[in-house]
Amino acid sequence: MSKRRKLNMRNIIKKAIQAFRDRNQPTYAHVYHPSSKIRRTAVVCISACLMFMVCGTAWSMGTDIANATDKQEHEKKMVAIIIDDMGNNMKGTEQILQLPVKITVAVMPFLPTTQQDAIEAHKRGHDVIVHLPMEPKQGKPEWLGPGAIKANMTDDEVRAKVTAAIKNVPHAIGMNNHMGSKVTSDKRIMSIVLDVCKEHGLFFVDSRTNYWSVVPELAAEKGMPPVRNDIFLDDTHTLAHVNRQITKVMEWLDKHDTCVTIGHVGVAGRYTSSALQSSVPTLKDHAKFVGISDLVRSEWGWKGNPAANTTIPSNVQ
Ligand SMILES: [Zn+2]
Repeated sequence: MSKRRKLNMRNIIKKAIQAFRDRNQPTYAHVYHPSSKIRRTAVVCISACLMFMVCGTAWSMGTDIANATDKQEHEKKMVAIIIDDMGNNMKGTEQILQLPVKITVAVMPFLPTTQQDAIEAHKRGHDVIVHLPMEPKQGKPEWLGPGAIKANMTDDEVRAKVTAAIKNVPHAIGMNNHMGSKVTSDKRIMSIVLDVCKEHGLFFVDSRTNYWSVVPELAAEKGMPPVRNDIFLDDTHTLAHVNRQITKVMEWLDKHDTCVTIGHVGVAGRYTSSALQSSVPTLKDHAKFVGISDLVRSEWGWKGNPAANTTIPSNVQ
């Protein structure tokens, strides 16, 4: 083989080895040729996908954490719905008792369905409180109902009336006032009312029918929960008004941890019960439905034990 031919052969082998090395080296980042462009595009796509997956997972984790935090917030918040004026088979009574969430029924003593309503509410898992009639500044005496507390009563008379009312409402764990714009600002009378409640293991919810009520201040002095109504649901008797008030409850819950709200059976009973029924899912997004006893135990550590206050007659069991 000539010298020149040998050199040519050596060059061909060198080039072949180099070509083989080039094929195995990951040179697409530095050397420009068509296949390296395809590889670069593939790498960009894969990187983008990976980044998207990582970011997506992080975002969804972030959303999950935010939702969980929101959920925890809502689980901490409590709404206690009290329905007044039960015990007289008024409009909306059955619908109120059938609400699918825990509420509190405030039952007036000594009325035709007092015991029946209290026992039925208790069976369905609702809280029961005594709705005690108290003298208002204005209003007809017949609106008060039997067993009412009046401003001219002696200490002993007040004590006897409150005790009898507690004994007349089965399963009662607390009390609130029916009317009472006059009596709830009377320190002498309210002090006796609260003392009797405490002796029987009951707390007292101030319905706030009077801006000058002495109840929260007296309750705090006596080591009782200063719990009071925040929003009346149906002081105007229309469905639109009740719905507006339910919106106010939700707005209140955005700023506060608890909301006590009072509605009624009677003239507005059907509006109140149907508005509450349809608002349950939305309200559930804002807070947990609790009985008023759950709220006072959780907020003020109330430990009153109202057991054995009443003997339930066999004909209504
Ligand atoms: Zn009432």
